[in-house]
Amino acid sequence: KEELNIIQGALELRTKTVEDVLTPLSDCYMLSSDAVLDFCTMSDMMQSGFTRIPVYENDRSNIVDILFVKDLAFVDPDDCTPLKTITQFYKHPMHCVFSDTKLDVMLEEFKRGKSHLAVVQRVNSEGEGDPFYEVMGIVTLEDVIEEIIKSE
Ligand code: ATP
Ligand code: ATP
Repeated sequence: KEELNIIQGALELRTKTVEDVLTPLSDCYMLSSDAVLDFCTMSDMMQSGFTRIPVYENDRSNIVDILFVKDLAFVDPDDCTPLKTITQFYKHPMHCVFSDTKLDVMLEEFKRGKSHLAVVQRVNSEGEGDPFYEVMGIVTLEDVIEEIIKSE
């Protein structure tokens, strides 16, 4: 029974897309690029429990960087270091994918790449103006694995 579920989940990777499993932008724990790494911000970040934290500029849909909690190893909260100092030092590459990416393709990309988090975007061609890229949320390796092991 359990094995069947897992096989079922694995088969569904070919049909399900990143959009089916992403964490919506509104639920993402993020930091503003002008944040200061004081005690308050750092403890809030630790309490969130997340390892990878998207950094946005001006608007939450404008993700410009990813901060890893391990980047904070040499940061002293008393120094009130600007977040930008850290993100510009590490410059982790940001991985973007389209929302219609199939989960089997996504899994391969996660296995190949170094990062286990991707920013999900789609082309928004609704409305009057020109089509534009719209950030929908984030997806991690864990979201894909979960789809395999807990499928009904
Ligand atoms: P790790 O397990 O590698 O320490 P993590 O616990 O921070 O990382 P994941 O295990 O990759 O995160 O993902 C767990 C769930 O949390 C997934 O559903 C993922 O989409 C979501 N998630 C990851 N990072 C964030 C974040 N910054 N804000 C909100 N949700 C997130
Ligand atoms: P993350 O990707 O969440 O930042 P990580 O890179 O430290 O974590 P994992 O991705 O969980 O580690 O594991 C990658 C590989 O490194 C695995 O084969 C794991 O067994 C190994 N590994 C993890 N921690 C250590 C460690 N302290 N010493 C040696 N090998 C480790």
